[in-house]
Amino acid sequence: MYNPAMGREEFILISTPSEVEMGKSIHESITREYKLSRNPAQVDRVRRIGERVAKVSDRQDYEYHFYLIEEDEMNAFTTPGGNIYVYTGLLEKLKNDDQVASVLAHEIGHCAARHTVKKFQAALGYDLISRIVLSRIGDGTARQITELSSNAAMSIIFSAYSRKDEYEADRLGVKYMHLACFDPGASIETFKILEADSKGPDVPLILRSHPYIHDRIRMAEEEIKALGSKYGPACRRNLSFAQIPIVL
Ligand SMILES: [Zn+2]
Repeated sequence: MYNPAMGREEFILISTPSEVEMGKSIHESITREYKLSRNPAQVDRVRRIGERVAKVSDRQDYEYHFYLIEEDEMNAFTTPGGNIYVYTGLLEKLKNDDQVASVLAHEIGHCAARHTVKKFQAALGYDLISRIVLSRIGDGTARQITELSSNAAMSIIFSAYSRKDEYEADRLGVKYMHLACFDPGASIETFKILEADSKGPDVPLILRSHPYIHDRIRMAEEEIKALGSKYGPACRRNLSFAQIPIVL
């Protein structure tokens, strides 16, 4: 399977329809265990910013969905199937739309590079998934996930990505901000807000699943400097490349 976000072939056994099914099943557990925000202005804001960034994502074979969780913690996470969740505790700390976009663009980067589904694939085990694929059970993978307890699914979701995956999501995040006409420099501001909060006794949840903040700031600064030469001037409206369907 060719991964356009990373420009290379990858071994992903979970098909996009299975991934979307997994996402739906996990979303049902999330709505049972967490309170989704009913503040229409805040919910719309997250959705509007998220959809603007999602339009330029390298991955366009599923729809992205953005949800706001009513929880006084600094956190954001992504589940398989393009579902992205932000906590109100994080949203309140962010000062403008660009900073909100930086969080969503990073999470969209994890989706585009298929990091989230790879975490599930690794946790479920190669043998199990290849047996399911080889026996052509079809949506067996999705069923398998449905049978996972929601605790097990959430512990995979909250587990840390690899350092390499974090750098990739940061690189893609600033790229998407650039292409979607947000200020990529807001990513650095957001890192610094998270960093300032991590000095207290409680490290924000988001940093437990997204560690290595100092190295990430340095790498993101380098990447931001190179954006113009890599992708052309900011706010280029020619997005046709992102609309090329991904062949699976
Ligand atoms: Zn991340």
